[in-house]
Amino acid sequence: MPERMRILLSNDDGAFAPGLQALYDALRPLGHELIVAAPESEQSAASHSITIAEPLRVRPYQGERGMTGYAVRGTPADCVKLALSVLLDQPPDLVVSGVNQGPNTGISVIYSGTVAAAAEGTLNRIPSVALSIDAFENPHWESCGTVARKVVEFVGGRGLPEGVLLNVNIPNLAPEKIRGFSVTTTALSRFIEIFHKRKRPRGGSYYWLDGELQITGKEQGTDVEALAQGYISLAPLHFDITAHAALDILRPLQDEDISGRNR
Ligand code: MN
Repeated sequence: MPERMRILLSNDDGAFAPGLQALYDALRPLGHELIVAAPESEQSAASHSITIAEPLRVRPYQGERGMTGYAVRGTPADCVKLALSVLLDQPPDLVVSGVNQGPNTGISVIYSGTVAAAAEGTLNRIPSVALSIDAFENPHWESCGTVARKVVEFVGGRGLPEGVLLNVNIPNLAPEKIRGFSVTTTALSRFIEIFHKRKRPRGGSYYWLDGELQITGKEQGTDVEALAQGYISLAPLHFDITAHAALDILRPLQDEDISGRNR
């Protein structure tokens, strides 16, 4: 990695989200070149969706304290794809997504647009990191900043194995209260849906999805446990989605006659 890295920043909370600004503010003193491409509006839970039935509008925008970037009317994955293909004249050395307001642990990772932006970097063979803080309100941004700097320097210096992205979750504590880094597996804990039913002012009803984390009791060594205990979770993820252990279970079907010739 070069001394001065080119780092692409994105997120799913939107171009004007405080977590993205906090990430920019935290990394700027390191002296790297920071390029921002983020969704124009909030895209939380957009997962790895991409926009193909509509045009992708891009406009330059300004954040605070010198932050400039591209606001894209699309998803997190659109932003990173567009940045790598069109907006940047050279590929970045690193993709960093976040800092998301709210944790991305357990099965939430599947729905996460924050993780998807980083995954898009990983799929393009660029070391990529997703950062989230365990708070929807009053996040400790200074803790996020400290963690972002340490992780970016580590991954910038050593890279990541090909195909692996680093999913980082930060406990919502002041820096001096955080117990340290913990390398974790991703829990199977998931959110149990709660659909709030509400009345429309002019009759009828609508639903608003909320959820509650279901603890499976098998959290040992996981991202969920680390956060609960005040550690920063470092969970490596990859995208070989083949269930290798199940291949043999299906093999008998290969001997089945489809043509009808051997009936
Ligand atoms: Mn989000």
